[in-house]
Amino acid sequence: MDDIQIDLAAFRTEVRNWLADNLPPELRQAHKRATSVFVEKAYNLAWQAILLRKGWVAPNWPVEHGGTGWNEAQRYIFASECARAGAPNLSPMGLKMVAPVIMKYGSEAQKAYYLPKLLAGEHYWCQGYSEPQAGSDLAGLQLRADSDGDDYILNGSKIWTTHAHVANHMFCLVRTSRDGRPQEGITFLLMEMDITGISVQPIYSIAGDHDFNQVFFDNVRVPKVNRLGEEGRGWTVAKTLLEYERSAAYAAGLVEALAEVRAAAKQAELLDDPAIRRRFAELDSQVRTIHAVEDMVLAAIGKGRDPGPASSMLKVQGTECQQRIQELGVDVAGIYAAPYQFEARQAGSNAGFVGPESALTATARYFNGRAASIYGGSNEIQRNIMAKLVLGL
Ligand SMILES: Cc1cc2nc3c(=O)[nH]c(=O)nc-3n(C[C@H](O)[C@H](O)[C@H](O)COP(=O)(O)OP(=O)(O)OC[C@H]3O[C@@H](n4cnc5c(N)ncnc54)[C@H](O)[C@@H]3O)c2cc1C
Repeated sequence: MDDIQIDLAAFRTEVRNWLADNLPPELRQAHKRATSVFVEKAYNLAWQAILLRKGWVAPNWPVEHGGTGWNEAQRYIFASECARAGAPNLSPMGLKMVAPVIMKYGSEAQKAYYLPKLLAGEHYWCQGYSEPQAGSDLAGLQLRADSDGDDYILNGSKIWTTHAHVANHMFCLVRTSRDGRPQEGITFLLMEMDITGISVQPIYSIAGDHDFNQVFFDNVRVPKVNRLGEEGRGWTVAKTLLEYERSAAYAAGLVEALAEVRAAAKQAELLDDPAIRRRFAELDSQVRTIHAVEDMVLAAIGKGRDPGPASSMLKVQGTECQQRIQELGVDVAGIYAAPYQFEARQAGSNAGFVGPESALTATARYFNGRAASIYGGSNEIQRNIMAKLVLGL
């Protein structure tokens, strides 16, 4: 027991020291100014390249594919230390979402082609699941993929596709059949974004940011060898991937987000206010509870088990706690939450601004944070899943 504790303490020190020496200030600032899930692609890839050189870019992957071989405790320590140091979040769509399903369902040729490029950041992925008429009811998706020799021909559209404007690859759910249950006619495809017939239109968020898009497919030809798993069995792949998407680690980021708001409250001399203190205390205990649940989920994944309904529980609690912290951030910022200072809050900007720096991002985080309980399957849907799988309702 002592040995394990000593090892983990030494590991934490190693990670902390390495981050202190290797996380460049401009990447720290990019994270500090980020108002949605992850930073701009350029910062994202810059940090990925640094982690790659160290061999730490894919803590969740098995060693044979370039992972670290860490146990769940080490992965958790690494995530916490990255959050503590203010490191940018890497895009999850490639490393955390499509990679595990390529490992599980991909052919040997697909694994050999995609995984090294994913690790190196050469392939930057987006997720083509949702459509204008298919979000929560994902099985209702209609993007047609008609068989034509060795290819599928795609027609239709995907929406809310995060980073489609900067991604060079998409994993995509398409309809290859209209017979039987809707789930049975779905196929999972991997494709490049620069093929003829794909066009991307931006959608701007209420905070003024461009994170997501609508993607149109006009007679887009995708080779059948790009299919992941069998034709008509894409629903199984899609569901596995969603469990990885929902089992994101929240606690480490929540601890830091709460600490940041607490520092702002201290600066604004609000910490003597009993109502504010109570909100901090409540949030603190929620974050600790999420941390404990996350340990359970990470342990299950570490033993090769799918996270199952626990990932739904974590998604609901993690995102709702995040939103409560963001609400408190706006209240702490007070009147300085009101001005729209879009330029000043961009990473690398030297535009002037009014109010404390912490207030610059408070409102945009609050607005963009509303999306967290919608994407990855809305929280109402997560509650339905738990009611069915856990409570048997
Ligand atoms: C910021 C952001 C980024 C996103 N990025 C991506 C991406 O990269 N790729 C991608 O494919 N998609 C992405 N999405 C889409 C996201 O997955 C969908 O928005 C989500 O699945 C909900 O679908 P919808 O928007 O069609 O809402 P709807 O399904 O129309 O739901 C509307 C409301 O009804 C509720 N509701 C629906 N059905 C039920 C039910 N059965 N029981 C109870 N309540 C129900 C929902 O909870 C919601 O409140 C993103 C969304 C956002 C906001």
